[in-house]
Amino acid sequence: MTAPRREASVDLDAIRRNVAELRRRAGSTSAMAVVKANGYGHGAVAVARAALEGGASRLGVADLDEALALREAGISAPILAWLHDGESEFRTAIASDIEIGVSSLDQLDRVAADAVHAGDARVHIKLDTGLSRNGVAESEWRRLFDRARELADDGRVRVAGVFSHLANASDESDADQVAAFERGLGVAARAGVAPGVRHLASTAGALRRPGARYDLVRLGIGIYGLSPFGDGTTSADLGLSPAMTLRARVAAVRRVSAGTGASYDFIWRAETDTTLVLVPIGYADGIPRLASGRADVWIAGRRRPIVGRIAMDQFIVDVGDDTVSVGDEVVVFGDPATGAPSADEWATAADTINYEVVTRIGPRVARTYPSA
Ligand SMILES: *Cc1c(COP(=O)(O)O)cnc(C)c1O
Repeated sequence: MTAPRREASVDLDAIRRNVAELRRRAGSTSAMAVVKANGYGHGAVAVARAALEGGASRLGVADLDEALALREAGISAPILAWLHDGESEFRTAIASDIEIGVSSLDQLDRVAADAVHAGDARVHIKLDTGLSRNGVAESEWRRLFDRARELADDGRVRVAGVFSHLANASDESDADQVAAFERGLGVAARAGVAPGVRHLASTAGALRRPGARYDLVRLGIGIYGLSPFGDGTTSADLGLSPAMTLRARVAAVRRVSAGTGASYDFIWRAETDTTLVLVPIGYADGIPRLASGRADVWIAGRRRPIVGRIAMDQFIVDVGDDTVSVGDEVVVFGDPATGAPSADEWATAADTINYEVVTRIGPRVARTYPSA
């Protein structure tokens, strides 16, 4: 081994259990495991397999390329990809049996055009019910479903689903979105389109909005064992185990005297004589620089503070008068049940959300799967 060890160890058993627990809490509704962005940084293929073993029946991703990579890895479960642009080409996706989320009349027509050559294209029509992101605007629903009906009658396109996404802004706004989704299903029915699988809720909705579960819940953050809620609800409160443990090894140990500065800009100086250890993982690897001086790591059975600026490849930890050696394990974050800091604590330290903490873990960090 020539590079320092930087490792995101992913517990696939935890993923299997999290999927089962989320399904149980969602009243056993069918589940799509969302594995976009390399499985929220955990490794899309490994997570996809574990989630299917844990009881998910479908997979969801943003991009067609992400969907094709899962197919190339030999995964045969239904896969939906929902984020496309004006250049997206659907032929390969249709030939690879990928379901396509359609957010406009133009996309529907492009899928239909590509389907002439590739056979039966399956689409999930995405309605904008208030998020103002992707999805067909309400003013277009009638035209879109009429067109879907025509294309279905021609055998060019099959409507396999109708879906939307919640803003999770408040009880009231979610209820408004459920009502809008119901109007959309009504428009589909009047156009003679059977909606197929109806889906609206992601992890937050699956857990707290029974009225949004419909036929399928799309589970992202929860399968990785993290809470979608910003109200202090922890993984443990939800019966979930964080799957990722981010580790490195101590690269150097140095005794310094009081007054010594550490790392760029000397935002920190030792108040007393102390021992500093160097941890070879930095913001290039997804450790947020904003957490400089605000986060802890776990070394030799204790939490210890990061001191000074987090740098591109490394940061410094103050271990006081304790004996720590080169090669000792450093847990940056993991399951707080083990004593390690959580991804949620890092999120707080960096003014962000746990989603961003795990998703940004970079390519120099090896993903390993001890319970594969
Ligand atoms: C990312 C995403 C999800 C998963 O959301 P979580 O909050 O991670 O459960 C579900 N649906 C859509 C459309 C998404 O973009």
